[in-house]
Amino acid sequence: MLFSEFALWCERIEQLSGRLEMIDLIAGVLPDLDEEDLPIFVRFIRGLIFPDWSPTNLGIGPNLLYDAVAYVGGKKRSDIVMLVNKTGDAGKAVELFLLREKTQQARLFPGEELTLAEVYVTFERMADTGGAKSQREKQRNIQLLFSNASPLDGRYLTRLMLEELRIGVGEGNVRDAIARAFGVNPPLVDRAHQVINDLGEVARLAKSDPGALEKVNIELFRPVKVMLAQAGTIQDMITGSREVAAEFKYDGSRFQFHRSDDRTIIYSRRLEDLTDALPDVAEKLNAVCSGDLILDGEVIAIKDGRPMPFQTVLRRIRRKHDVAGHVGEIEMIPLVFDILYKDGRSLIDLPLTERRLILEESVTGSVAPQIRSSDEEELLAFYHAALDEGHEGIMLKVPASPYIPGNRGKHWIKCKPEVETMDLAVIGGEWGEGRRARHFGSFLLACRDDQDHLLPVSRVATGINDETLGILYDLFKDRVISESGKEVTFEPGIIFEIGYSEIQKSPNYASGYALRFPRFVRIRDDKRMDEIESLSSIIGRYRLAGERNGDQSPPRKNT
Ligand code: ATP
Repeated sequence: MLFSEFALWCERIEQLSGRLEMIDLIAGVLPDLDEEDLPIFVRFIRGLIFPDWSPTNLGIGPNLLYDAVAYVGGKKRSDIVMLVNKTGDAGKAVELFLLREKTQQARLFPGEELTLAEVYVTFERMADTGGAKSQREKQRNIQLLFSNASPLDGRYLTRLMLEELRIGVGEGNVRDAIARAFGVNPPLVDRAHQVINDLGEVARLAKSDPGALEKVNIELFRPVKVMLAQAGTIQDMITGSREVAAEFKYDGSRFQFHRSDDRTIIYSRRLEDLTDALPDVAEKLNAVCSGDLILDGEVIAIKDGRPMPFQTVLRRIRRKHDVAGHVGEIEMIPLVFDILYKDGRSLIDLPLTERRLILEESVTGSVAPQIRSSDEEELLAFYHAALDEGHEGIMLKVPASPYIPGNRGKHWIKCKPEVETMDLAVIGGEWGEGRRARHFGSFLLACRDDQDHLLPVSRVATGINDETLGILYDLFKDRVISESGKEVTFEPGIIFEIGYSEIQKSPNYASGYALRFPRFVRIRDDKRMDEIESLSSIIGRYRLAGERNGDQSPPRKNT
């Protein structure tokens, strides 16, 4: 397939609003794609370049991309930034730029037309380049791509590289399209996706050997999405005298540990490779188990016997240099609460009780304590013990439940003191004043709608201390897409957890809602952009609060 055909499909999909139309359209394309193009198309259409399980990323910021595109057109980066400011969309800006330059320079596109596979191979090459010359090498590859790209190709190449394709194609749509295209049962596609964690590969199997879909299994060093929890109460979980398994809810960082006798990798919740940042954790885990295993757990930081705030763990994870020098500073403790794989056998379909027995046999320390009870008093006492020991609350799990990767269902319930927070994407900011003049002083936050568009919902300036201000400056300085006066637009990709007192309707933000008294809680670098708060969830929270207060607050002007 030519990349220009892919770009045309993206444009068509972008114009659709109905889910069924979208599934029909994608299902119509898939059978015509060959073995090589099919997985690439399936990933690209979701805005992904590499499989979901792969820790690989392209590592390209907007400025590098604009520099390379400007070079191709013989212009300056600022010419593109001006168009980004005008359109508010990096993809459209590059498209306009190429359109303009193309008419002025007949030889801007002298090469052959790009194919989908060539684009993918170039991306792979870029992701592989490391070392001192990597930025220059990446820039050269981007120039190569854009010198052979049409303006429309440019729109979608840009969005793909900046990880903001956002044409509204969600995971569920692609799953249903694969099922439809190859006549496979949707639950089978769903299950294969949970296990393989790459819809591209699922599509390839569905086309070449649908029987193989039933036999797919989880594998070492191909991480699966972690199972998630819903908020709930002890009472709900034990209705009908149901027994539950309860564990402390640790406030650190989720990990998935894969080990064989000659290799060990610690993955984060986002499935990045954290092994180099947590050598002490890997050592501790290796000391308590043997054989081939996949374990699920939470790593916490401990000082004087008490858990430290989760930021301590995050700070260590983010540390890129001199990890060894910081290993002894604060003790990192892994607490394992699940086992997904042992010696060639997948355990995810077994009930929790059986997995727990295998876990206790296989791991001789570092296992998170668990109680089983249907007694409210006992579970309440366990909850208070967790809080007294400095943990976040408790997790209640259904003993008969399988491990469903990526699932957030009723099998796992989290009970913790109620604090209203939501995770939002940072899309802009404002330079600070006075003492904060060299830092970004406030941040513009967005939720996502059903089409994955980012809609502003709040600004936050409170809750950020001087140390965090410096960290945030370092984090955002290379993400600036454009500036106008004190206002800055950021390349989306960083997520904040924000506390608030109330949600109100507001004409001031495109989402139609605003947060009252927003307060920065933390950076959520363990979450992906598709996990940020959705507009429908905000509307749900708003209605719920109205019901609780016995009224629907009238629209108020945002303060
Ligand atoms: P979510 O993970 O549900 O999106 P969140 O990231 O804000 O929300 P919480 O709501 O605080 O996290 O709770 C879920 C997280 O709790 C898990 O992802 C895991 O990292 C952590 N956790 C701590 N202890 C446990 C445990 N015993 N079992 C499962 N998860 C645990």
